[in-house]
Amino acid sequence: MSGTARPLSPSLDIARRVAELRWRVADWRGQGLRVGLVPTMGALHDGHLSLVRGALGECDRVVASLFVNPTQFGANEDIARYPRDEAADGAKLAAAGAHLLYAPELGDMYAADHATTVAVAGLTDGLCGPFRPGHFAGVATVVTKLLNQATPDRAYFGEKDFQQLQVIRRLARDLDMPVEIVGMPTLREADGLAMSSRNRYLGEAERRVAAGLPRTMAAVLARLAARPLDVAGALDWGSGELARAGFARIDYLTLADPETLQPLDRADRPARLFAAAWVGATRLIDNVALMGGAPGAH
Ligand code: AMP
Repeated sequence: MSGTARPLSPSLDIARRVAELRWRVADWRGQGLRVGLVPTMGALHDGHLSLVRGALGECDRVVASLFVNPTQFGANEDIARYPRDEAADGAKLAAAGAHLLYAPELGDMYAADHATTVAVAGLTDGLCGPFRPGHFAGVATVVTKLLNQATPDRAYFGEKDFQQLQVIRRLARDLDMPVEIVGMPTLREADGLAMSSRNRYLGEAERRVAAGLPRTMAAVLARLAARPLDVAGALDWGSGELARAGFARIDYLTLADPETLQPLDRADRPARLFAAAWVGATRLIDNVALMGGAPGAH
């Protein structure tokens, strides 16, 4: 046991310093235990907890990190508005069976003269990239730091943020990080809306509009299955449907290769449909597989 890690519950300790985290992981490693890491920004919902459950199924010890990373928020994105409730998150993690919560302070994560950025080219050029300048560099940098700090055997990320997942897979490979990156399916609400910490911003009417995103995406997939060569037609139709459903702005609705994330104009090979659209002041993203996965299921 670390002398400084404090118990949040009988089964979940909290570490705030990287030294405590390293000490604990080294201790587990010494016992031959396999360690899984689940990085999060908190405001945990069942989607996050499904990553914890997935990690528990494959690893002996599971660390969940909670850090609202300022460098992945754009100048016009309000980090102060991001929901935070560490006590509730700790209780959920303990109930799910996680072993350690790593919740570093901002000043410990970024030295005042922090000067290094991890940038993954190509994969970040399209989809959310142009709409969120600097976002993926912020994600890639903080995830690199978390992987270097926790040195897990496996790290778990949601397909809900599919572009982020591919960026992380690529940086881990390119930088020879000795970790297996595991992607987990998107958990959804009963009406199909992908679970997200941002859903709590939605008012009742907005919440109804939001359900139109997965519904329309499933309908676009059905059109693509029927007419695989008319991608442009299906996407135009889908954009119109989203506008009619009440989405204020559609950043993109794109069919893309799941590996390269390059747009496709034919739906005759494995592909994913990606969307980002605004309901009021809330930006929602989603993605679904065209082939090689049950459409609409994840
Ligand atoms: P966040 O706290 O939003 O940074 O998310 C932390 C992790 O949880 C990321 O790997 C997300 O992709 C994943 N995640 C978020 N929402 C879901 C969901 N609905 N289903 C599965 N994983 C999710």
